[in-house]
Amino acid sequence: MPQADREVDRPWDVETDLLVVGAGAAGMTAALVGALEGLNVVLCEKSDMVGGTTATSAGTVWIPGNRQGQRVGTPDTVEAARTYLAAMLGEHATDQRVEMFLRAGPIVLDYLEQKTSVRFAAPAVHPDYKNLPGAAIGGRALGAVPFDGRKLGDDFVRVRPPRREFMVLGGMMVGKADIPALLAPFRNWTNFRHAVGLLARHALDRISHRRGTRLIMGNALVARLLDSVRRADVGLRFETGLREIICEGDDIVGAVLTSPAGEVRIRARKGVVLATGGIGWSRDLRERLFPEVARRYSLTPSSNTGDGILAAERVSAVVEHDLDSPALWMPSSVMTQADGHLSVFPHIMLDRAKPGLLAVNTSGRRFVNEADSYHDFVAAMLRSNASASSTATAFLICDRAFIGDFGIGMVHPGSKDLTRFLQANYLTEGETIAALAQKIGVDRDQLVQTVERYNRYAETGIDDDFGRGASELNRFNGDPNSKPNPCLRRIGPGPYYAVAVWPSDLASSAGLRTDSSARVLSGDGRILSGLYAVGADSASIFRGTYPGPGTMIGPAMVFGWCAAMDAAGALRRFPELLTPR
Ligand SMILES: Cc1cc2nc3c(=O)[nH]c(=O)nc-3n(C[C@H](O)[C@H](O)[C@H](O)COP(=O)(O)OP(=O)(O)OC[C@H]3O[C@@H](n4cnc5c(N)ncnc54)[C@H](O)[C@@H]3O)c2cc1C
Repeated sequence: MPQADREVDRPWDVETDLLVVGAGAAGMTAALVGALEGLNVVLCEKSDMVGGTTATSAGTVWIPGNRQGQRVGTPDTVEAARTYLAAMLGEHATDQRVEMFLRAGPIVLDYLEQKTSVRFAAPAVHPDYKNLPGAAIGGRALGAVPFDGRKLGDDFVRVRPPRREFMVLGGMMVGKADIPALLAPFRNWTNFRHAVGLLARHALDRISHRRGTRLIMGNALVARLLDSVRRADVGLRFETGLREIICEGDDIVGAVLTSPAGEVRIRARKGVVLATGGIGWSRDLRERLFPEVARRYSLTPSSNTGDGILAAERVSAVVEHDLDSPALWMPSSVMTQADGHLSVFPHIMLDRAKPGLLAVNTSGRRFVNEADSYHDFVAAMLRSNASASSTATAFLICDRAFIGDFGIGMVHPGSKDLTRFLQANYLTEGETIAALAQKIGVDRDQLVQTVERYNRYAETGIDDDFGRGASELNRFNGDPNSKPNPCLRRIGPGPYYAVAVWPSDLASSAGLRTDSSARVLSGDGRILSGLYAVGADSASIFRGTYPGPGTMIGPAMVFGWCAAMDAAGALRRFPELLTPR
């Protein structure tokens, strides 16, 4: 008899309607909605904080046809998104899960805004990642409205902090909109007021809190979800991690979890929702699913170790891996800090698209439009190095003026003293391009030629090799003051600098096979009754492609909602979701 079946004969420690494991965006949404729909809900989180990867993310949510965008005059339609996804996914664009996501998305946002503290704002411009028909420039990707962490009281310490590399002054969060004011507070009155406001609030915060309480991006989303979960009376248990799923025949009836007080057996009358954040650091899953060169660094928290997927496999669920990519990638640079902490810095958008930086592979050649999405950047990096048959490292190259203007990776814009970064071998410096090439082990003549060629493109404003600066996305992340192309500028006088970047996963896209109500399926297509998988525990509906900002958390929240509604028998209140197209 399998372990899971033997477990059912033992007495339960706790009985509930819905058991949710993992408190990121997906799990907290499922737990919250379950409670709002009248279920008794237990939400178990393995670590001592809620938030998972979501808390450390930008918190963007991609929901086509939402009302929040319409409210601020950047309307988007589900039909336009269908066109876009058809161009991206081909025959898979009509998959029932995609259809459910498109139909339910706007309903979920409105549901949450009406019943909880979760609020979204639509920036006017936040372009999709591909230049394809139906792509949106704004209105489709939403951000969480900033949240005052003080409102959480004692629960504030339960919100996982952002990545340390993204905070300044001992715990102040800085968003893209804050950067101009902090870099040039005296440029104008608006900058001054904004910068002083941020600093004064932070100084006040630090008297009574371990970090700043002005929460933005993923931290704001998680704090809003936590606030709502508490108000909805969800039973939240920390340091309680899923170990095994328990079945009775073909039905999933509960789970065994480990906690500081020992093993806890929880019976779940209406279902178990897996939301443990996907592959994460699971060595087994990384070896099975990721290319070797991409196994070393993950941007997920250390508590994400593939537990949901592995436990589900033991009760005959299967991992969908016939996808464009098993993960969504990010180029990351790596530095050991003075206190021994290993910083893995995701190069999201602050430097790559800016004019005056280029990326080369270990042969010293450009291999990608550096201003494209992080996922596309790494996908090209993996392809490029596969053909060059070397390691998967690439280098970002720039001159001194670039660092002054934009910074590079962990080196902030305007940094005068680079010693710390040079001594840690984070930055490599060369008086000439040839000297730099030699230091980083790249072919000298090739790198010199590559830079000369890039400089010719900077003069004409047209990148004949990769079309840098041609798309909305490129221009959005470039520098509007750089003419004729916001993403191209001559590499000027030395010294020159290089930063090595590595592939890292920001999310897994391979995950459990599920249906359009987030129910887990077995290898032969049977529904594993009572078992749901959401967020990164389920296979990406976009099949390992990256359509735009927010395409992980958007579906994570929508299918979190679907799972809870299905478990509560409430999906039928929305017949428009259930009728075939
Ligand atoms: C730097 C960065 C920026 C990003 N920005 C965005 C963005 O703006 N928009 C977007 O859509 N995506 C973004 N992503 C990806 C996105 O953050 C994740 O895909 C998403 O947050 C995953 O949500 P989740 O709820 O599935 O998992 P997580 O948020 O990772 O939550 C999983 C939780 O489960 C817990 N857990 C693990 N094992 C167990 C267990 N056995 N029992 C109980 N609990 C367990 C973990 O501790 C964790 O708290 C970003 C990622 C990174 C790294």
